[in-house]
Amino acid sequence: MSRNPRYDVLFEPIQIGPVVAKNRFFQVPHCNGMGYMRPRAHAAMRGVKAEGGWGVVSTEEVEIHASSDISPSVEGRLWDDRDIPALALMTDAVHKHGALAAIELVHAGMNAANLYSREVSIAPSHLVNPGSHAPAQARAMSKRDIRSYRQWHRDAALRARRAGFDIIYVYAGHGLSLAMHFLQSRHNGRTDEYGGSLVNRARLLRELIEDTKDAVGTECAVAVRMAVDELRGADGLCAAGEGREVIEMLGELPDLWDVNLSDWSNDSRTSRFAAEGFQEEFVCFVKQVTTKPVVGVGRFTSPDSMVSQIRRGVLDLIGAARPSIADPFLPNKIDAGDVDDIRECIGCNVCVTGDYTMTPIRCTQNPTMGEEWRKGWHPENIPPRSGDDTFLIVGAGPAGLECARLLGRRGYSVHITEAREELGGRVTLESRLPGLTAWSRVRDYRLNQLNKMQNVEILRGSRVSAGEILEFGAKRVVLATGARWRHDGIGRANSRAIKGFGVGRGVITPDDLFEGVSVAGPVVVFDDDHYYLGGVLAEKLRNDGHEVILITPAERVSAWTVNTLEQYSIQKRVLELGIEVLLNRNVIEFDGARVVAECTFTGRQSAVTASSVVTLTARQPNEALALELAGQSNAMSAAGIASVTSIGDCWAPSTIAAAVYAGHRHAREFDLLSDNGVGFRRELTALDDV
Ligand code: ADP
Ligand code: SF4
Repeated sequence: MSRNPRYDVLFEPIQIGPVVAKNRFFQVPHCNGMGYMRPRAHAAMRGVKAEGGWGVVSTEEVEIHASSDISPSVEGRLWDDRDIPALALMTDAVHKHGALAAIELVHAGMNAANLYSREVSIAPSHLVNPGSHAPAQARAMSKRDIRSYRQWHRDAALRARRAGFDIIYVYAGHGLSLAMHFLQSRHNGRTDEYGGSLVNRARLLRELIEDTKDAVGTECAVAVRMAVDELRGADGLCAAGEGREVIEMLGELPDLWDVNLSDWSNDSRTSRFAAEGFQEEFVCFVKQVTTKPVVGVGRFTSPDSMVSQIRRGVLDLIGAARPSIADPFLPNKIDAGDVDDIRECIGCNVCVTGDYTMTPIRCTQNPTMGEEWRKGWHPENIPPRSGDDTFLIVGAGPAGLECARLLGRRGYSVHITEAREELGGRVTLESRLPGLTAWSRVRDYRLNQLNKMQNVEILRGSRVSAGEILEFGAKRVVLATGARWRHDGIGRANSRAIKGFGVGRGVITPDDLFEGVSVAGPVVVFDDDHYYLGGVLAEKLRNDGHEVILITPAERVSAWTVNTLEQYSIQKRVLELGIEVLLNRNVIEFDGARVVAECTFTGRQSAVTASSVVTLTARQPNEALALELAGQSNAMSAAGIASVTSIGDCWAPSTIAAAVYAGHRHAREFDLLSDNGVGFRRELTALDDV
């Protein structure tokens, strides 16, 4: 196939100051948990994006000085010359494929706790970091500090040029940099020429742009990443006020404007809370007040939405972090006319959890993300089959579907059998819950790929037994049969069954709800799981008209979603819906009419009236088939079965991302003869004394 002429505009080259991007696809800065600690992995990951057609590929935040140390987070680092070679690995990997490399220089100011460097944090005024409970304050910068800071920034720009970068960012976004802290009136209480009026508060940003242009501007483009709206009205930067005024003031100074929302949770909103293109209403003014090219984001995965942004004069370049993570080859697929093959981001923010947990990035849709260097996995180049093994995969949830997709791509003959008429397992069920529609893309992408393969057959409505597996005659059996939520209450908070819990008795699991078991209100949702499902089910039950009480041993609703940037929005929604929330309480008894809960600190007990309890504690793997087959080794060898492997939730229940990864991994690795023991390459600390 060839490119649809409708999308030609996306492939026009764009002049950005002294450099030219080969097209309008711009991978904006994004964190990845690799940074300065895992530079080879980082370079390989960015290189794959460039190979996939992105015209510009950026780093994440790159700290410019030891007083901007945001440890334990793992970002880029350019503290001195010795950091140049690690970053040059990335620019080489990006240039190899004809893309431009961009670097986001950052001084995090009060957001840098400097836990590693033990420097004192700096800020426009004497400030505490609003995002932290740490017992430390940042110090107001003197004029001399400002001069030093400008020098560090200039030095970093020069080093970035030496590392091979084509675009150098000045960063005033997400509330995470000094340049932005100076802009924010609530953080800038200065009485000198850097405080007070907006002209004064924007002085530092202006100087940084001018310094950077002066240092590297003839060879490198200078970009500004700026938050035009903080979604806090006139108390912050806003598109109808100071956000706009700053760009009106500085509009022609940089070579590129990269504009978005602040903070990060507003910028990277999940699909549960915002649709594709959601930032348009905030950033659409920018092109009216500058002649410089403008890039913006909005979880764009549809080429028609991208074209529309350009045709309507909203953006010049299509910025993407998550869409480029889910599908590094998105531009090339549009170019080749393979729009159907795009692996669309589902907006779940599992990619963000890597950054929050200081570990390499992972992605629900793209299991190769983060594995490019350490496992040598490429999202598109899949090794061909090494033999003529035949496969029977049992279960068409995310693990089974991904395993079938990859084995099919490798050229193996695969049958995948699913008990239900519907394919997709938990993804299909969960995507019907409020706000989770986009999650069905996990299923749809894989089914679309499988439907094109002659060597993969899907059998629906076909629950197989161990006997049928033996009769089937496949050489390799993969069990991807999922898991079921427990009825007995055993989980994190309770290692023994909860009194009154069990099958029936008004104790209902998410599986029961999906299967249509009816709920009598008032209903308690006991969330001892702490990820999204408890909060979503509470929301659904409330929407269905029930009185809902959410009880959790955690200190917040859906506590783990702090790592997906959603926790605040989830708790806000739950409270706004009128759901009663009891935090730090463990459920210890249910008698059909009353739930007894206990304070996790004092043990003090209280009771709430409830006719049903929806319980999310732990899950039990569906391992009956695996256990049965394990007991029949003679019959298995007689049937010619060489291996039976359990993957995904039926091995150990986890996230959808983990199930997809498990399916992918088995299909890639089942025929590997040996590995290096650990199973992937590591970047070990050099013992040089530097
Ligand atoms: P995972 O996340 O590990 O992929 P899911 O629970 O989403 O797990 O999917 C498991 C799928 O396996 C479900 O769709 C379920 O209906 C199916 N399944 C379970 N047992 C059998 C069986 N014996 N035969 C066929 N399909 C099965
Ligand atoms: Fe998109 Fe989720 Fe992948 Fe992040 S993890 S890129 S949000 S699909």
